[in-house]
Amino acid sequence: MSHGNGRREHFLASTGNRGQLTFYRWSRVATTTSMNMHRILERAGLRPTLPRVLVLEFFHQHPHEHFSAEQVYKRLNGDTRNMSLGTLYRALGLLVESDLLSSVALGEGCMVYELNDGKPHDHIICTACGGIREFFDEQIEARQRAVADQFEFEMAGRQLVLFGLCAECRKGRMQSQDGAGKLSRRLT
Ligand SMILES: [Zn+2]
Ligand SMILES: [Zn+2]
Repeated sequence: MSHGNGRREHFLASTGNRGQLTFYRWSRVATTTSMNMHRILERAGLRPTLPRVLVLEFFHQHPHEHFSAEQVYKRLNGDTRNMSLGTLYRALGLLVESDLLSSVALGEGCMVYELNDGKPHDHIICTACGGIREFFDEQIEARQRAVADQFEFEMAGRQLVLFGLCAECRKGRMQSQDGAGKLSRRLT
C-alpha cells in the first residue's frame, strides 16, 4: 500500500488524538556543487572561504546526519586537504550563526551539527550505541509555543533531546553500564 503525496518522506508512527509523531526517513538530496555552496554562503552574507565551502559541502553531502566537530575534522582531512581544528570550529560557529547548520547539545560537552533544512525536529539518542533518530511531534511544539507565550517570551529556538536505550541495545546486544562514555567516544 502506498502513501499519498506529501507523506512519502515521513513515517507516521502514531496518529489520532495524541497528535502526530513523525519520524524523518534518511534521504539523500542531489549532490550540490561547490559553486552552489558559494552562492548559499554569499546569500547568507558570508564570504565563501575554502573552509566554509568545504564544511557546508560536507553537510550537504550528508543531509539528515549528525556529526561532532571531531568527526567532521577527520572526514574532511581524509580528503588530503588540511584544515586546523580551530578553523573548523570557527567555520561551524559561523554556519550555525547564519542558520545554514544547526547544532544540537547532547549534554556533557557533546555537540553535534547537522544541515539546517528549516524543518523543526527533535532527537532521540541511544546512550549505548550513539544512534540518533529525528522526530517531530505537533503537540510538543504547540505546548512549547504556549509556554513561551505564557512567559511573554519571544522564542528564537527550541531543542528537545530524549536520552536512553534504543530497541536493539535494550535487547542486550550492546548493552553496557558505560553508556555515556560510549556516546562521547563515538562522537570523537
Ligand atoms: Zn542503541
Ligand atoms: Zn537532526
